[in-house]
Amino acid sequence: MNIQLIYNPNAGGGKGDKLYPLILKALRDQGHTVTPYRTLYRFHATEIAKHIDANACDLILAAGGDGTVYEVLNGIMQNTSSKEHPLYGLIPVGTGNSFSVDLQMKNWTDGLKAVAGGKSREVDIMEFITEGDKYYSINAIGFGLVADVSYLGNKMKKFIGKTAYTVGAVAEIIKFKPQKTKLEVDGKLYEYEGVFTNFSNSVWIGGNMKISPNSIIDDGEIECLALENLPKKDLLKVFPTVFEGKHLSVPQFKVYKGKHFKVSSEPVKICNPEGEIFGVTPLELTVLQKEIRVLTL
Ligand SMILES: [Mg+2]
Repeated sequence: MNIQLIYNPNAGGGKGDKLYPLILKALRDQGHTVTPYRTLYRFHATEIAKHIDANACDLILAAGGDGTVYEVLNGIMQNTSSKEHPLYGLIPVGTGNSFSVDLQMKNWTDGLKAVAGGKSREVDIMEFITEGDKYYSINAIGFGLVADVSYLGNKMKKFIGKTAYTVGAVAEIIKFKPQKTKLEVDGKLYEYEGVFTNFSNSVWIGGNMKISPNSIIDDGEIECLALENLPKKDLLKVFPTVFEGKHLSVPQFKVYKGKHFKVSSEPVKICNPEGEIFGVTPLELTVLQKEIRVLTL
Protein backbone atom coordinates (compact mmCIF):
# COMPACT_ATOMS: atom_id res chain seq x y z
CA MET A 1 0.00 0.00 0.00
CA ASN A 2 0.94 3.62 -0.43
CA ILE A 3 0.72 4.88 3.16
CA GLN A 4 0.75 8.50 4.28
CA LEU A 5 1.87 8.27 7.90
CA ILE A 6 1.07 11.26 10.12
CA TYR A 7 2.74 10.92 13.52
CA ASN A 8 2.69 13.08 16.59
CA PRO A 9 6.11 13.00 18.29
CA ASN A 10 4.63 14.29 21.57
CA ALA A 11 1.88 11.65 21.81
CA GLY A 12 1.97 9.58 24.99
CA GLY A 13 4.44 12.00 26.62
CA GLY A 14 7.08 11.44 23.89
CA LYS A 15 6.18 7.82 23.10
CA GLY A 16 5.34 8.91 19.54
CA ASP A 17 8.92 10.03 18.97
CA LYS A 18 10.46 6.97 20.60
CA LEU A 19 8.35 4.47 18.63
CA TYR A 20 8.47 6.29 15.29
CA PRO A 21 11.58 4.52 13.88
CA LEU A 22 10.14 1.13 14.88
CA ILE A 23 6.74 1.89 13.33
CA LEU A 24 8.31 3.14 10.10
CA LYS A 25 10.59 0.10 9.82
CA ALA A 26 7.74 -2.33 10.57
CA LEU A 27 5.54 -0.76 7.86
CA ARG A 28 8.35 -0.87 5.29
CA ASP A 29 9.13 -4.46 6.28
CA GLN A 30 5.46 -5.25 5.51
CA GLY A 31 6.26 -4.06 1.96
CA HIS A 32 4.45 -0.70 2.04
CA THR A 33 5.63 2.58 0.54
CA VAL A 34 5.49 5.05 3.41
CA THR A 35 5.58 8.84 3.34
CA PRO A 36 6.01 10.11 6.90
CA TYR A 37 4.89 13.48 8.25
CA ARG A 38 5.95 14.68 11.68
CA THR A 39 3.48 17.09 13.29
CA LEU A 40 4.97 20.30 14.64
CA TYR A 41 2.07 22.22 16.14
CA ARG A 42 -1.60 21.93 17.17
CA PHE A 43 -3.84 21.15 14.15
CA HIS A 44 -0.80 20.53 11.93
CA ALA A 45 -2.13 16.99 11.44
CA THR A 46 -5.39 18.48 10.12
CA GLU A 47 -3.47 20.60 7.59
CA ILE A 48 -1.41 17.60 6.44
CA ALA A 49 -4.43 15.26 6.04
CA LYS A 50 -6.40 17.99 4.26
CA HIS A 51 -3.74 18.38 1.54
CA ILE A 52 -2.84 14.73 0.85
CA ASP A 53 -3.74 13.56 -2.67
CA ALA A 54 -6.31 10.90 -1.78
CA ASN A 55 -6.16 9.41 -5.30
CA ALA A 56 -2.48 8.61 -4.89
CA CYS A 57 -2.80 7.12 -1.42
CA ASP A 58 -4.25 3.82 -0.14
CA LEU A 59 -4.20 4.64 3.55
CA ILE A 60 -3.88 7.65 5.83
CA LEU A 61 -2.35 6.34 9.03
CA ALA A 62 -2.36 8.38 12.25
CA ALA A 63 0.20 7.48 14.91
CA GLY A 64 -0.78 9.30 18.08
CA GLY A 65 -3.46 9.47 20.73
CA ASP A 66 -7.04 10.75 20.81
CA GLY A 67 -6.01 14.30 19.84
CA THR A 68 -4.16 13.10 16.73
CA VAL A 69 -7.12 10.91 15.74
CA TYR A 70 -9.33 14.01 15.99
CA GLU A 71 -6.99 16.26 14.00
CA VAL A 72 -6.43 13.77 11.17
CA LEU A 73 -10.18 12.98 10.94
CA ASN A 74 -10.93 16.68 10.45
CA GLY A 75 -8.27 16.90 7.73
CA ILE A 76 -9.71 13.85 5.94
CA MET A 77 -13.20 15.39 6.05
CA GLN A 78 -11.89 18.64 4.54
CA ASN A 79 -9.87 16.83 1.86
CA THR A 80 -11.52 17.46 -1.52
CA SER A 81 -8.96 15.70 -3.75
CA SER A 82 -11.18 12.62 -4.20
CA LYS A 83 -14.91 11.82 -4.14
CA GLU A 84 -14.36 9.03 -1.59
CA HIS A 85 -12.60 9.47 1.73
CA PRO A 86 -9.33 7.58 1.90
CA LEU A 87 -9.04 4.55 4.18
CA TYR A 88 -8.13 5.65 7.73
CA GLY A 89 -5.86 3.67 10.06
CA LEU A 90 -4.75 4.26 13.65
CA ILE A 91 -1.53 3.37 15.44
CA PRO A 92 -2.34 3.92 19.15
CA VAL A 93 0.65 5.57 20.87
CA GLY A 94 -1.17 8.18 22.97
CA THR A 95 -1.89 8.60 26.66
CA GLY A 96 -5.52 7.89 25.73
CA ASN A 97 -6.40 5.73 22.71
CA SER A 98 -10.15 5.71 23.17
CA PHE A 99 -11.54 5.03 19.70
CA SER A 100 -8.91 2.35 19.01
CA VAL A 101 -10.38 0.24 21.82
CA ASP A 102 -13.66 -0.08 19.87
CA LEU A 103 -11.55 -1.43 16.99
CA GLN A 104 -9.93 -4.04 19.31
CA MET A 105 -6.59 -2.20 19.20
CA LYS A 106 -4.93 -1.47 22.55
CA ASN A 107 -1.39 -0.51 21.58
CA TRP A 108 0.90 0.33 18.66
CA THR A 109 1.64 -3.29 17.76
CA ASP A 110 -2.13 -3.89 17.38
CA GLY A 111 -2.21 -0.93 14.99
CA LEU A 112 0.57 -2.48 12.90
CA LYS A 113 -1.28 -5.83 12.91
CA ALA A 114 -4.39 -4.08 11.56
CA VAL A 115 -2.35 -2.58 8.70
CA ALA A 116 -0.88 -6.01 7.90
CA GLY A 117 -4.30 -7.69 8.06
CA GLY A 118 -6.00 -5.06 5.90
CA LYS A 119 -9.43 -5.70 7.49
CA SER A 120 -11.64 -2.60 7.49
CA ARG A 121 -15.15 -1.49 8.43
CA GLU A 122 -17.32 1.55 7.86
CA VAL A 123 -17.99 3.62 10.99
CA ASP A 124 -20.15 6.58 11.95
CA ILE A 125 -18.79 9.98 12.80
CA MET A 126 -20.42 12.97 14.47
CA GLU A 127 -20.57 16.27 12.62
CA PHE A 128 -20.78 19.17 15.04
CA ILE A 129 -21.28 22.87 14.52
CA THR A 130 -19.80 25.36 16.96
CA GLU A 131 -19.65 29.10 16.38
CA GLY A 132 -20.93 28.65 12.81
CA ASP A 133 -18.25 26.19 11.63
CA LYS A 134 -18.43 22.43 11.00
CA TYR A 135 -16.10 19.92 12.64
CA TYR A 136 -16.06 16.16 13.14
CA SER A 137 -15.66 13.83 16.10
CA ILE A 138 -15.26 10.04 15.95
CA ASN A 139 -15.07 9.39 19.70
CA ALA A 140 -17.00 11.82 21.92
CA ILE A 141 -17.70 15.48 22.59
CA GLY A 142 -19.20 17.09 25.64
CA PHE A 143 -19.22 19.98 28.06
CA GLY A 144 -19.61 20.56 31.77
CA LEU A 145 -17.69 18.89 34.58
CA VAL A 146 -15.90 16.25 32.45
CA ALA A 147 -14.57 18.88 30.01
CA ASP A 148 -13.71 21.30 32.82
CA VAL A 149 -11.69 18.61 34.62
CA SER A 150 -9.71 17.78 31.46
CA TYR A 151 -9.14 21.51 30.82
CA LEU A 152 -7.68 22.07 34.27
CA GLY A 153 -5.87 18.70 34.21
CA ASN A 154 -4.20 19.53 30.86
CA LYS A 155 -2.97 22.83 32.26
CA MET A 156 -1.53 21.27 35.43
CA LYS A 157 -0.13 18.11 33.79
CA LYS A 158 3.24 19.66 32.97
CA PHE A 159 3.74 20.74 36.58
CA ILE A 160 2.45 17.80 38.60
CA GLY A 161 2.23 14.92 36.11
CA LYS A 162 -0.47 12.22 36.18
CA THR A 163 -2.07 13.35 39.46
CA ALA A 164 -3.20 16.52 37.61
CA TYR A 165 -6.58 14.99 36.68
CA THR A 166 -7.36 13.86 40.22
CA VAL A 167 -6.40 17.26 41.63
CA GLY A 168 -8.33 18.87 38.73
CA ALA A 169 -11.44 16.81 39.49
CA VAL A 170 -11.44 17.78 43.18
CA ALA A 171 -10.81 21.47 42.36
CA GLU A 172 -13.61 21.55 39.78
CA ILE A 173 -16.07 19.72 42.05
CA ILE A 174 -15.45 22.24 44.85
CA LYS A 175 -16.21 25.26 42.65
CA PHE A 176 -18.83 23.50 40.50
CA LYS A 177 -22.02 25.23 39.37
CA PRO A 178 -24.59 23.44 37.17
CA GLN A 179 -25.45 24.58 33.63
CA LYS A 180 -29.03 25.36 32.62
CA THR A 181 -29.17 23.01 29.64
CA LYS A 182 -31.61 22.84 26.74
CA LEU A 183 -31.26 19.62 24.78
CA GLU A 184 -33.16 18.86 21.59
CA VAL A 185 -33.07 15.19 20.54
CA ASP A 186 -34.49 14.58 17.05
CA GLY A 187 -36.85 17.52 17.57
CA LYS A 188 -37.89 16.73 21.17
CA LEU A 189 -36.87 19.26 23.83
CA TYR A 190 -35.54 18.45 27.32
CA GLU A 191 -34.41 20.96 29.94
CA TYR A 192 -32.31 20.25 33.00
CA GLU A 193 -29.68 21.57 35.38
CA GLY A 194 -26.64 19.76 33.99
CA VAL A 195 -23.47 18.58 35.70
CA PHE A 196 -22.24 17.53 32.28
CA THR A 197 -23.58 16.50 28.89
CA ASN A 198 -21.61 14.14 26.68
CA PHE A 199 -22.24 12.84 23.15
CA SER A 200 -20.60 9.51 22.36
CA ASN A 201 -19.98 7.67 19.12
CA SER A 202 -17.78 5.06 20.82
CA VAL A 203 -17.64 3.49 24.27
CA TRP A 204 -14.54 4.94 25.98
CA ILE A 205 -13.17 8.42 26.60
CA GLY A 206 -9.83 9.49 28.00
CA GLY A 207 -8.53 6.01 27.23
CA ASN A 208 -9.95 4.38 30.36
CA MET A 209 -13.35 5.90 31.15
CA LYS A 210 -16.22 3.64 30.01
CA ILE A 211 -18.60 6.56 29.67
CA SER A 212 -20.97 5.11 27.06
CA PRO A 213 -21.06 1.31 27.45
CA ASN A 214 -23.91 0.88 24.95
CA SER A 215 -22.46 2.96 22.10
CA ILE A 216 -22.13 1.18 18.77
CA ILE A 217 -19.85 2.80 16.20
CA ASP A 218 -21.92 2.04 13.11
CA ASP A 219 -25.59 2.02 14.22
CA GLY A 220 -26.34 5.56 12.97
CA GLU A 221 -27.11 6.79 16.48
CA ILE A 222 -25.35 9.07 18.93
CA GLU A 223 -25.64 8.22 22.66
CA CYS A 224 -25.94 11.32 24.80
CA LEU A 225 -25.19 10.92 28.51
CA ALA A 226 -26.24 13.71 30.85
CA LEU A 227 -25.82 13.96 34.60
CA GLU A 228 -28.84 15.96 35.67
CA ASN A 229 -30.34 17.80 38.65
CA LEU A 230 -27.84 16.49 41.17
CA PRO A 231 -27.53 18.28 44.54
CA LYS A 232 -23.96 19.47 45.00
CA LYS A 233 -23.61 17.45 48.21
CA ASP A 234 -24.03 14.23 46.19
CA LEU A 235 -21.53 15.20 43.50
CA LEU A 236 -18.45 13.60 45.10
CA LYS A 237 -20.39 10.37 45.63
CA VAL A 238 -22.05 10.17 42.21
CA PHE A 239 -19.61 11.75 39.72
CA PRO A 240 -16.75 9.23 40.23
CA THR A 241 -19.06 6.31 39.28
CA VAL A 242 -18.57 7.41 35.66
CA PHE A 243 -14.85 6.62 35.96
CA GLU A 244 -15.75 3.10 37.07
CA GLY A 245 -18.40 2.57 34.36
CA LYS A 246 -21.02 1.94 37.08
CA HIS A 247 -22.99 5.13 36.45
CA LEU A 248 -25.90 3.84 34.34
CA SER A 249 -27.66 2.43 37.40
CA VAL A 250 -27.55 5.88 39.09
CA PRO A 251 -30.92 7.60 38.38
CA GLN A 252 -29.44 11.09 37.79
CA PHE A 253 -27.60 9.80 34.73
CA LYS A 254 -29.88 10.03 31.69
CA VAL A 255 -29.19 8.54 28.27
CA TYR A 256 -30.68 10.03 25.10
CA LYS A 257 -30.28 8.28 21.76
CA GLY A 258 -30.72 10.09 18.47
CA LYS A 259 -29.42 11.17 15.11
CA HIS A 260 -29.63 14.94 15.46
CA PHE A 261 -29.09 17.05 18.57
CA LYS A 262 -29.13 20.74 19.41
CA VAL A 263 -27.83 21.76 22.80
CA SER A 264 -27.25 25.05 24.57
CA SER A 265 -26.09 25.92 28.06
CA GLU A 266 -26.24 28.87 30.40
CA PRO A 267 -23.48 29.85 31.03
CA VAL A 268 -21.62 29.11 27.78
CA LYS A 269 -19.26 26.15 28.30
CA ILE A 270 -16.07 24.92 26.62
CA CYS A 271 -16.27 21.58 24.77
CA ASN A 272 -13.86 18.63 24.57
CA PRO A 273 -13.99 16.65 21.28
CA GLU A 274 -11.71 13.59 21.76
CA GLY A 275 -10.48 15.16 25.01
CA GLU A 276 -9.15 18.23 23.18
CA ILE A 277 -10.35 21.57 24.45
CA PHE A 278 -12.10 22.95 21.39
CA GLY A 279 -15.33 24.79 20.64
CA VAL A 280 -18.06 26.16 22.91
CA THR A 281 -21.80 25.73 23.44
CA PRO A 282 -24.28 25.93 21.75
CA LEU A 283 -23.60 22.83 19.66
CA GLU A 284 -25.51 21.15 16.86
CA LEU A 285 -24.64 17.50 16.22
CA THR A 286 -25.59 15.16 13.40
CA VAL A 287 -24.54 11.56 12.97
CA LEU A 288 -23.06 10.71 9.57
CA GLN A 289 -23.70 6.98 9.31
CA LYS A 290 -20.88 4.83 7.98
CA GLU A 291 -19.15 7.96 6.69
CA ILE A 292 -15.61 6.68 6.88
CA ARG A 293 -13.80 3.35 6.48
CA VAL A 294 -11.25 2.46 9.15
CA LEU A 295 -8.78 -0.38 9.63
CA THR A 296 -9.72 -2.79 12.41
CA LEU A 297 -8.39 -5.94 14.02
MG1 LIG B 1 -23.71 4.81 17.61
